Amino acid sequence: MNADLLIIGAGPAGIAAASEAARSGASFNLIDETGRAGGAIGLAYETRGIPFVADRTPGAAVARLLQAEADRLGGVERATIHSLSEQPGCVVARTDRGEELRARAVVVATGATPMIPPVPGLPPLLQPPWAGSASDIEDAVALQVAVIGGSDVAFDQARALRSRGAAVAVLCRSRAPRAPRWLWQAAVRDGVEVLAHTVVVSADAVGREVDLELRMASTTVHRRFGRVLAAVGRAPRRIEGMEELSMDRARIVGDAVGRAARHVAIAMGDGTLAAFELLRGARETER
Ligand SMILES: Cc1cc2nc3c(=O)[nH]c(=O)nc-3n(C[C@H](O)[C@H](O)[C@H](O)COP(=O)(O)OP(=O)(O)OC[C@H]3O[C@@H](n4cnc5c(N)ncnc54)[C@H](O)[C@@H]3O)c2cc1C
Repeated sequence: MNADLLIIGAGPAGIAAASEAARSGASFNLIDETGRAGGAIGLAYETRGIPFVADRTPGAAVARLLQAEADRLGGVERATIHSLSEQPGCVVARTDRGEELRARAVVVATGATPMIPPVPGLPPLLQPPWAGSASDIEDAVALQVAVIGGSDVAFDQARALRSRGAAVAVLCRSRAPRAPRWLWQAAVRDGVEVLAHTVVVSADAVGREVDLELRMASTTVHRRFGRVLAAVGRAPRRIEGMEELSMDRARIVGDAVGRAARHVAIAMGDGTLAAFELLRGARETER
């Protein structure tokens, strides 16, 4: 047995699970495919609503806090978990290199991944880290970036791109963006263009640019952009076999659950509770 608890993912949910395991005196393996702590919050231009962190703290600074906590707990092991299965008394995790890790229980804290909108002809999109990938952004700043979506993430990333010098337009279907008013108004003050009630019908690559066919109210227009970023939602990251594991051996936590409620505080609460319950269950079985 490698450990009492295997924690897959070192974002907020995984770090919280590891803190709880350490507090209870259990042994644990904290694994992330990046080899680092932080997860999705590291992408945020400005964060809000994170307990004990000042609003407007950049996501990169929050990720550094999570990394400091991971270092205090013994660090993050770099591995990608490909599949999970249950055997008597333990869970077996297989890495993409075919190695096996065994633990009494597992916390799956793999987060979520951006969804791609079903727009015919859409070329490869800007990928995370959206605001940090220097070559992509340097290319894009000369041109205009279209952000498809009207959520908090869409406006957060539009502001991040704007702060790097890109001309940015947010294209959202609804009459008013889904993001809180203060956020989209801050984006407008930063110089982000908001095209509400706009549906992206199709896309066509024209040299290094993308021609988007847009339906705005009852008219159809074409606009050229240098890059497109999709922020139309996030889908949970699944690991083969994870749904078949029993509740006394496994918990899925944080953004990996697939709820609409995706926040650091929720992820951390989830991770803490999962580790608490799994480890308490193991202790009661031993008695
Ligand atoms: C742009 C943006 C802005 C945001 N702003 C805010 C905000 O202001 N306030 C707020 O509260 N929330 C914000 N959020 C939401 C917040 O970041 C997430 O809710 C939170 O990070 C979820 O934590 P998590 O641990 O569940 O998943 P994640 O943070 O996504 O972490 C998952 C980790 O699992 C790893 N992983 C995935 N699959 C595997 C595998 N198979 N093997 C090994 N490792 C794996 C990944 O590398 C990743 O590090 C924002 C999100 C985004 C994208």
